[in-house]
Amino acid sequence: MDFSYTAEDDAFRAELREWLDANLPEFMASGEIGDENNPDRRTMLRRQAWQRCLHGGRWAAINWPKAWGGREATVMQNTIYSEEMARAKTPGIYNANGLWQIGPMILRWGTEEQQQLWLPGILNADVHWCQGFTEPEAGSDLANLRTLAVLDGDEYVVTGRKIWISTAHLAKWGLFLVRTDPTAIERGVKHEGITALIIDMELPGIEVNVIRDITGGELFCEVNFDGARVPAAYRLGEENQGWNVAMGTLANERVGTSGLSVSMRIELDNLIATARKNNPEALDDPGIRDRIARLWTQLELTRLLNARALSKILKGEKNWPEVPLAKLQWSYLSQTIAELGVDILGATGVLARGGPDAVDKGHWSHNYVWQRYTSIGAGTTEVQKNIIADRAIKMPRR
Ligand SMILES: Cc1cc2nc3c(=O)[nH]c(=O)nc-3n(C[C@H](O)[C@H](O)[C@H](O)COP(=O)(O)OP(=O)(O)OC[C@H]3O[C@@H](n4cnc5c(N)ncnc54)[C@H](O)[C@@H]3O)c2cc1C
Repeated sequence: MDFSYTAEDDAFRAELREWLDANLPEFMASGEIGDENNPDRRTMLRRQAWQRCLHGGRWAAINWPKAWGGREATVMQNTIYSEEMARAKTPGIYNANGLWQIGPMILRWGTEEQQQLWLPGILNADVHWCQGFTEPEAGSDLANLRTLAVLDGDEYVVTGRKIWISTAHLAKWGLFLVRTDPTAIERGVKHEGITALIIDMELPGIEVNVIRDITGGELFCEVNFDGARVPAAYRLGEENQGWNVAMGTLANERVGTSGLSVSMRIELDNLIATARKNNPEALDDPGIRDRIARLWTQLELTRLLNARALSKILKGEKNWPEVPLAKLQWSYLSQTIAELGVDILGATGVLARGGPDAVDKGHWSHNYVWQRYTSIGAGTTEVQKNIIADRAIKMPRR
């Protein structure tokens, strides 16, 4: 790890800190938004308001061109951005998918007309977007997807089923991957024959069913297509080029884990502070003390791992195998902190959200189950281990 910040990087950090100091406290003090009885909806409305506030300061889409309200941020500035946002504990973003993955793809692959149609709504948080890739038989093996799109005149007729699509029930638009050449599967080239379509979620022939997750939240959906007619003008990139479009979006998803090591460190600090207040004797337990020390050490290791990946990128080298290793560290550590959270608080640690005695509004019990997602999202643990075994350790294949 050998890098230093340029004067521009320091100025970028200073400007962001100044903006956050001037705007975040006021936003946080502005209180709850929306229907008190629906926490998912309340969260989304708050995210929408926060994204609009960010956009007002030109801090929503830092990687977008300046002409589109962005800053054309460098890799280093992306790292600074994610660290500062984590440090300031900013709220989530309404169109995270749209700003970080779909928007950049529309900028890369979209026509001028498509850009004018979709980019303003993503930026201003006027409409919500979802990303529809996964199917019952196409998750880790995404190229196996079979939702069929058949060109009929100037429309694609779409039939099939997508699953685990986050917030599809709230979305006006979605970027979907569909199969336009089914023979590609039989020919053993399943990555070919896939097309990226942008779909209006209000079209006839689309049914969205919400799936309740382990936390009780309702943000996942199953999306069924039954002959939905999508204008061919809404295709992103060429027909059968969808894999290239998708790989661009997934590559964007894998950048910027450095903020996660900052937020996990803050989470551990918060946990120790809450234990001091709610169950201080737990901190005398040698087993708990050992777990805290191990976690702290692992978090520091992960921070350095991210820094090493960054210095490789800055030198034009491949950030390999640091990226899959950091992904594994993230899922392992966020789950380990979540488990410690419940153990350290004793019996009160499991009291759920909404109960009068729940510690920190039930954050720790919620976190205990929610963090399980980190071994699936952004590439499952087993698949990351396969990649490391195969390409980094070069273990023989059976
Ligand atoms: C919080 C969250 C949000 C999501 N949001 C979206 C979204 O908005 N849009 C979207 O399209 N999808 C979304 N997904 C779905 C996600 O992309 C898939 O869950 C993921 O790709 C894994 O696919 P799967 O669930 O079908 O599991 P599978 O791929 O079927 O895997 C099941 C198990 O088998 C293991 N496995 C699979 N292949 C191998 C192998 N070759 N070797 C060893 N083990 C293997 C996996 O590690 C896993 O443990 C989301 C998932 C989560 C958890």
